[in-house]
Amino acid sequence: MSLSALILLLWGTSYAPGDLTLVSSFIVTPLSAILAAATLVVSLVLYILSRKNETFQHVTALVAYIMICTSASSIIISTGHMKSPFIAIWLLLGMFAGLFGIMGFLFICVVEAVYVTYLFTQQPSGTTSISAVIFIFIVPLIVSLIVWRRQIQPGGSDDKAYSDLARELSQVSNKSDIVINAIADGVIAVGGSNTIQLINPAAQTLIGWDKQDATGLDYRSVLKLLDSKDHAITDEADPIQQVLRTNQPITRDDLSLITNAGKKLILSLVVSPVGQPGSGCIIVFRDITDQVAENRQKAEFVSTASHEMRTPVAAIEGYVALALNPQTATIDDKARGYLTKAHESANHLGQLFQDLLDISKAEDGRLNNSPTPIDVASFVKDVISSVQPTAAAKQITLVYAPDSNPQIILPAYFVNVDPNHYREVISNLLTNGIKYTKPGGTVTTDITGDVDHVTVSVIDTGIGIPAEDIPHLFQKFYRVDNSDTREIGGTGLGLYLCRKLVETMNGRIWVESIYGKGSMFFVELPRAASTAPDSNESQQN
Ligand code: ADP
Repeated sequence: MSLSALILLLWGTSYAPGDLTLVSSFIVTPLSAILAAATLVVSLVLYILSRKNETFQHVTALVAYIMICTSASSIIISTGHMKSPFIAIWLLLGMFAGLFGIMGFLFICVVEAVYVTYLFTQQPSGTTSISAVIFIFIVPLIVSLIVWRRQIQPGGSDDKAYSDLARELSQVSNKSDIVINAIADGVIAVGGSNTIQLINPAAQTLIGWDKQDATGLDYRSVLKLLDSKDHAITDEADPIQQVLRTNQPITRDDLSLITNAGKKLILSLVVSPVGQPGSGCIIVFRDITDQVAENRQKAEFVSTASHEMRTPVAAIEGYVALALNPQTATIDDKARGYLTKAHESANHLGQLFQDLLDISKAEDGRLNNSPTPIDVASFVKDVISSVQPTAAAKQITLVYAPDSNPQIILPAYFVNVDPNHYREVISNLLTNGIKYTKPGGTVTTDITGDVDHVTVSVIDTGIGIPAEDIPHLFQKFYRVDNSDTREIGGTGLGLYLCRKLVETMNGRIWVESIYGKGSMFFVELPRAASTAPDSNESQQN
């Protein structure tokens, strides 16, 4: 480009006022000026294009090189061939040939061979000296070959290793391009400056942006994320910013996206960090709008069905209870036996519908959540006393650990959660402890904590849980199936509901167990400031 500009400048001097033309031999012909102008424009355009698409950089450079060689040839021929003052340009161009690989060399060799043949055939012998030809044409090529090729491929013996590595890298890069382009999920790579570095075809289709338009832009102008309340996401809540800050991967299923066409999609999104904190991340996302709608419909169906079926079951339960009550009905012992079984089954069915109703609410976020400051110690004691009759009926001893050791004074442990949810969880764990412990056993409840957390543990001396079942215990409908549990009725929904409720309360639930010896269930919740609740009742509603 500089060379073309120089040629144009020299041509321009011949039109300047006064006598700016240096010497007549420096006069540039219009043809050379046109070629130089074309080279300048084409080189500029190719340079801009190659900045956007690096794949074609070497081709565009070779095209620009061929064009400048043509301009130089024209100016040299028109200003005296080998005696031209511009012959130095050719020396320079010869030295650069090596930069363009074998194609650059071949091009310059062919041009020089043709020109030298022309010189020796057209001009009288002796006019063109052999030494000048060697100096102007051959030496720059050799210099170029040695200097530039060595710079590109250092160490002669390493040449093969270098080219093998380059080939391998290019193959790996091609393969990963193929994989990324074939992935059905959207993939976007974001650099440390928040700009999009890569966007695969699936992402382009999902968000309605072309690769050319999106690449290099701030990801926030392409990936317009909304939170669960449909508000534009803030930088603090933005998972991409969080990953860039913390370098920890994040998975979200609660965000939506506004496409280029203004359509709203619900996304499942995984953001993974790349390299050092803040250096970049990869976003993998897919459209789960239909899946969410389908789940909502299923949950609505389950919840409506359970709600509708609960009413007749409650009626059956009530009438059977009346039949079993000696004050309201007279039945013989045989009928009592049948009705007792019917009453237990109706109870079980009622519990199943209640669990299904609660779960469908928990799953689609319809659970009422009214956080209240709760004094954990008195709250847990209250729940224990509510299950005391069940424990007594099975000759199970319930122990409240802080009471059994008066030396230990429990700190004021408060949590700020919905009391109904908390009660449901602890009561479920206590009921399970009683259910899965043989008569004569013990179920102990303890409270521990630190500055940030309060943990309630329910420890039984029951049948225990086999190690292979533990990872599945909090899944929907999962029941341990062995000779110990077969006789004990249940739905496999209690612990799943506990997990859902604990997650709603931003806590954690887990179990440790030794099969045949007993189990320990833990519920950890964030500890709240020790503000006394308004009244004792408010904790127990
Ligand atoms: P359900 O008790 O109605 O079957 P849960 O979800 O409450 O359903 O429990 C799932 C399974 O976990 C139970 O079927 C039982 O096998 C096992 N389990 C739960 N609590 C205990 C416990 N305290 N001791 C031993 N096994 C337990």
